[in-house]
Amino acid sequence: AHELMLNSEKLSVAGQLAAGIAHEIRNPITAIKGFLQLMEGGVQYKKEFYSVISSEINRIELILSELLSLAKPPLDNYRHKNIGSILQHVVALTRSQATLHNIHITTFIRDKHLNVLCDENKLKQVFINFIKNAIEAMHNGGNITVSAQSDGNRSVIIKIADEGTGIPTEMLREIGKPFFTTKENGTGLGIMVSYEIIKHHNGEVKIDSNSNGTTISVILPISK
Ligand code: ADP
Ligand code: MG
Repeated sequence: AHELMLNSEKLSVAGQLAAGIAHEIRNPITAIKGFLQLMEGGVQYKKEFYSVISSEINRIELILSELLSLAKPPLDNYRHKNIGSILQHVVALTRSQATLHNIHITTFIRDKHLNVLCDENKLKQVFINFIKNAIEAMHNGGNITVSAQSDGNRSVIIKIADEGTGIPTEMLREIGKPFFTTKENGTGLGIMVSYEIIKHHNGEVKIDSNSNGTTISVILPISK
């Protein structure tokens, strides 16, 4: 009975996702069509139309590229990689965006030699998603702490802690559903995609949040 429930749950997620994709992509396409029709009719202000069209196309591209990271990675992409270096690289990539928002990122790699069997690029994508969310939740600047520490030699716990708005309890269960976003220009795909990638790595994600901020923990098996 338990299996069955899981299966039907999966189906409904796939259904939800399909309906969401159709909806999210139809909106920009409708807008593009409308502007093309106006242009065909010879209406002035074409320059504005081009920029709307191009930003709508960019939106479709963003949605598709996030969805594409869901495609199951072939197993031979998995390598033993140092988790500390992965995190350092991700922090280097996101630091300038953080600085722009008056945010400082501190990293604590407590155990330097921890490797995980992973698709490095996909794992980086996950940490970038979480750090971007942390930045977007901190409207008045502050600190983000990224840490990694082994947990009894079998797994590594990576934490991304922010001092942002936090997530209201009643919203927590919505987080990670496809297209759930509270942001004007959000896609609501980052967390869902990240969960999937971590699942493919036999890991887990936990969210702890209160009005002082949010901590995302990613737990991954140590490989060697
Ligand atoms: P998006 O960032 O496009 O909105 P995500 O799936 O990355 O989509 O996040 C979904 C929602 O979860 C966000 O819109 C936001 O409301 C909430 N959220 C995620 N991370 C955080 C965080 N660190 N602090 C506060 N809210 C967050
Ligand atoms: Mg996001």
